[in-house]
Amino acid sequence: MMSPKGSLLRGSIADAQFRLFACETTAIVQHIRDIHDLYPLPSILMGRLITAVALMSGELKAPHSEISIRIDADGPLKGGIVIANKEGMLKGYAFVPQLWLPENQDNFQVGKGLGKGTFTVIRQSGLKAPYQGRIELLDGEIGTDLAQYYHQSEQLPTAVNLGVLIDQGARIRAAGGILIQALPQADTDLSLQIEENMKNTPNVSDLMDMGLTIEDILNRFVLKNLSWQISKSTPIRFHCDCSKARFARGLLLLGKDELQGLREDISPVCHYCNKAYTFTKEEIENLIKSLD
Ligand SMILES: [Zn+2]
Repeated sequence: MMSPKGSLLRGSIADAQFRLFACETTAIVQHIRDIHDLYPLPSILMGRLITAVALMSGELKAPHSEISIRIDADGPLKGGIVIANKEGMLKGYAFVPQLWLPENQDNFQVGKGLGKGTFTVIRQSGLKAPYQGRIELLDGEIGTDLAQYYHQSEQLPTAVNLGVLIDQGARIRAAGGILIQALPQADTDLSLQIEENMKNTPNVSDLMDMGLTIEDILNRFVLKNLSWQISKSTPIRFHCDCSKARFARGLLLLGKDELQGLREDISPVCHYCNKAYTFTKEEIENLIKSLD
């Protein structure tokens, strides 16, 4: 099966006073919804998170470097994890994939479902130790939290618009996002104008559902009458890099005693893509032998 694709645009505004990332993630969010059988609220959470991490991945430079967002919250939705790498591969999972709340409208309010919690960003580049930054969730709607994260942890004024539109049949009608950051030399009036434009722009996914592309949205709303350019457009896609060899390495970490206690075939499942890897009794015995 071809992995579901989207695209990530990188650009600059007003002679590089601002940097711009924008992406279209509809097919990727639909795929994540399908493989994890996500209910509406976890679908919206994961759609916003995967879009957020895709936007953040636009800044990755070193090959194979990756960036993750992890939400841990005390509400019924609990949170989730998403990971993107420099090569545009995205994956993630929700902590409570089949959550349905008694009040119908609560099934569409991510912040309410999450409650209080933390928003953690982990950056991993090559062999260097991972870098981690964490903030308290601001409103749990993800876009605001992401902007707050950049502001608080990296001192980068950031404006974000994330959208996931889902219909009654749990079909993802549209998903995408825009992220703009003011660089140190940015003009203050221009910053205010862009911030105002972002505020007055309807939700990205609603506009996409009306047939507008991300570039149309930038042209007509966010960056109307401003000089800007896209420098690069690259594909992004859902991809899980799990393998039987990786699971075998994980099993080895259990140690000899634990492995010897396994009396029958086992089928560990990958959290990220739901693929199961079966290890027969003989294969487990071979793993035990390899430990000797
Ligand atoms: Zn996997």
